[in-house]
Amino acid sequence: MTSEKGRTAVFLDRDGTINVEKEYLHRAEEFEFVPGASEAIRLLKEAGFLVVVVTNQSGVARGYYDEAAVHRLHRFVDQELATVGASVDAYYLCPHHPHHGIGPYRTECACRKPLPGMLLSAAADLGIDLSRSWIVGDKAADVEAGLAAGCRTILVRTGYGAAEEHLVPPDVTVCDDIFAAARAIITHLRS
Ligand SMILES: [Mg+2]
Ligand SMILES: [Zn+2]
Repeated sequence: MTSEKGRTAVFLDRDGTINVEKEYLHRAEEFEFVPGASEAIRLLKEAGFLVVVVTNQSGVARGYYDEAAVHRLHRFVDQELATVGASVDAYYLCPHHPHHGIGPYRTECACRKPLPGMLLSAAADLGIDLSRSWIVGDKAADVEAGLAAGCRTILVRTGYGAAEEHLVPPDVTVCDDIFAAARAIITHLRS
């Protein structure tokens, strides 16, 4: 969607939201979509949203894998999504950690969720109207990043979501998974 205010986006957390949470996932062989995730992304694209993945990857900071490995994994995800006619418009990653990072990766950055830096960068890069955009994630940090950026927020119960549900403000929408979240967003659009 486009208006004088900019395009609308759905920001998606990656681990635990799009794919099954596996600690420090970076290999394509270990990547497993949450059921319905690729269909959810296709529905959001068909509804006119930009789909932007925003992912904290402290595994880079910790030296478990490098940024190139994250990019390779995302190209694999792109290929998988293409088989169902879905796509992601952009990926933003935070490779930092304030305490456990090695060398330049140990920093109090502005991009690690719950800070909204990745969303703000995407908004500037892609002309996104944050006030009409959404974030979907499985952690309170995703919700907090969305709220800080002025977005609408949905917590999903996959990944860490069921355990984090009590941490989010009571007016935050909670959905069972990313597919239910996509349906809720599209229903909201039409109401
Ligand atoms: Mg997550
Ligand atoms: Zn960062």
